[in-house]
Amino acid sequence: MELGDAALGSIQAGADQQARREELMRRIASGEFHRVIEWVGPGKMIIARCVDGRSPDKEVPMFLPNAAGGTESLFVADDLTTKRYAADDASTLSGYQHLLEGLAKEGYSIGGHTDTHADGDKSGCGANDKLAVIYDYIKKHAGDLQVVAAKLGVIISDADRDSIAANASTRTQFSEGRELLDALKTAGGIVDVLVGEHKEVVAVINTRQNTTLDRNVLADEFGNNYQAFNVDVWAFEDAARAISLEAAEVRQKVAAMVFYNLATTMVLAGPKMRVIVL
Ligand SMILES: [Zn+2]
Repeated sequence: MELGDAALGSIQAGADQQARREELMRRIASGEFHRVIEWVGPGKMIIARCVDGRSPDKEVPMFLPNAAGGTESLFVADDLTTKRYAADDASTLSGYQHLLEGLAKEGYSIGGHTDTHADGDKSGCGANDKLAVIYDYIKKHAGDLQVVAAKLGVIISDADRDSIAANASTRTQFSEGRELLDALKTAGGIVDVLVGEHKEVVAVINTRQNTTLDRNVLADEFGNNYQAFNVDVWAFEDAARAISLEAAEVRQKVAAMVFYNLATTMVLAGPKMRVIVL
């Protein structure tokens, strides 16, 4: 499917990315570019890398599951639900710091990224730098996101939808992306430096347990003009469980992560962005 008019962003296939787009999608859909994650640490495996399609400046020795912003997906899951780490009256920075400390104490991996041209208040991660716009999207389009999620096989209840939208509305203090990035570095997170421009032509929803997209091999095969967003949705439940105390909370946090990841795609990508479920 294509994202269509619900998408507000600009990342999508351009005229110079038509020649091999169908081939790329077919080969990604075959699972050719997804690898089993053989994580040996440091830290317990959990979502800690971003969905961004660009490759890091150095080869990634081991993979970790992908979601918007890396560990930031866990912060948003908390902020839009039970707020064990975040609080309405505090900045996103203090909530994020609290979450990073909590995860590190429990022995989980934490991570995110910057890029080679981020400057000023920017981190170089759209899921982070555009957090206020993404929350606004969730607030205004919660019903649409619920429908898209259902099409992708994730059923979110009306009660969870309304509660997530309400929590998106009450958040008023957003720290700069750079502040969150600095907090991640201070906490000892894995911070990839991604190179070049966005060239994503497809967003992959990956349901295959313990696998993720190998961007290095994809780039070896297709060059830098073709990239793919990759969301490891299979990893959402473990991530939600790591920051929850009860089953109902896990369900809500999975729903919030789905909303955040879809809304991030809608904010960053354009109407012609394709979506495939692997
Ligand atoms: Zn990112």
